[in-house]
Amino acid sequence: MQFTVVGCWAPYPRIGEACSGYLVQEGDTALLLDCGHGVFSSLGRYIDYNFLTGVFISHFHPDHYVDLYALRHALRGAFMLKRRIEKLKVFMPDEPHREYAYFKQVPEFEVIKVENGLKCRLGSIDLEFFSTRHALPAYGLLAESKGKKVFYTGDTSLFPGLYQGKEGIDLLVAECTLFKGETSYAAQTGHMTTCDVALLAEHLKARRLLATHFWPEYQIEKLKGEIEEGYKGSLFMAQAGFKIEI
Ligand SMILES: [Zn+2]
Ligand SMILES: [Zn+2]
Repeated sequence: MQFTVVGCWAPYPRIGEACSGYLVQEGDTALLLDCGHGVFSSLGRYIDYNFLTGVFISHFHPDHYVDLYALRHALRGAFMLKRRIEKLKVFMPDEPHREYAYFKQVPEFEVIKVENGLKCRLGSIDLEFFSTRHALPAYGLLAESKGKKVFYTGDTSLFPGLYQGKEGIDLLVAECTLFKGETSYAAQTGHMTTCDVALLAEHLKARRLLATHFWPEYQIEKLKGEIEEGYKGSLFMAQAGFKIEI
């Protein structure tokens, strides 16, 4: 699989960049993980949106889903011009219901409700969704192809159910929203600190760790230094255009 960072900021992007958006590709299968502010515009640097096979929306915070509106309009045009015939599979939670109900009736989308433990196959990639702990109902994803595994946390705090039974990860893509000193704010908002991210990577026996979901004002090198105190594997800090072969 190839993994590409389209955007990595939260909850708003740096100038000219994007919030959460990641591309997982294997052969002709292209899955977009989240579609936050700026992702639709940035996506064109890596793939024509008409070639997307699926989109996974981890939860309905705007920095993870709001550019689905742009994608929807673009696809409407593509359908009219017959550049695309197949509906786009969109995996999303069914809560809050207002957002789910809206996207469910979009004719260009085939909406699939995500549930804890749901497994399915998208082209050449096997998907397994799991619940996370966040301010809203939220999910993470385990994507597997040709024996390689990518684990995407979405937004979450750290809890044992997140990693138990999922050890042996080739690439862990983990939200790293806060510094290690911000544990109470992390618990309050449902996010991870650098220390949590390192612990999660150790529990999952992750060979490589890609930290992401950064507040634009934070110094990324400082976040990196804190993760390195607890995680000794290969560590990458997300930035737009970062690509890795898994
Ligand atoms: Zn977020
Ligand atoms: Zn969130």
